[in-house]
Amino acid sequence: YSDEVKRAQSADSSTGTIFDKIISKELKADIIYEDDLCLAFNDIAPQAPVHFLVIPKRKITTLQDSETNDKELLGHLMLVARSLGAARAPQGWRLVVNNGVHGAQSVYHLHLHVLGGRQLKWPPG
Ligand code: ADP
Repeated sequence: YSDEVKRAQSADSSTGTIFDKIISKELKADIIYEDDLCLAFNDIAPQAPVHFLVIPKRKITTLQDSETNDKELLGHLMLVARSLGAARAPQGWRLVVNNGVHGAQSVYHLHLHVLGGRQLKWPPG
């Protein structure tokens, strides 16, 4: 397995994550957008020339664990991804949400990956 799959398989979903520290500014990140509900910052290990994450400030562990009440927040995250994607990768971009172990999720705080800046391939591994 690749490193990120191994990380995902050993991730602990029951505790705080590194994203809590980014939200509280305890840990520095390359923040590109912030509002009351969410934060967007460049991925520390970019998989494409454009690779940033959009996360809710209120923790949702996985997309699987989101609730009907989260409808507005989830929509907001997608609209922020849309605006930032349009500005940073005008030729197109991809939205990815890794969910759970088989989804190769390694940080258990919901995040939308936005990837672009090059021709992406399909399917993912
Ligand atoms: P995977 O690690 O398999 O991509 P995730 O979907 O959970 O799984 O993605 C977590 C993402 O968070 C990774 O792309 C990783 O590079 C990124 N990341 C981890 N720590 C930081 C950090 N301190 N700042 C920015 N991005 C980070």
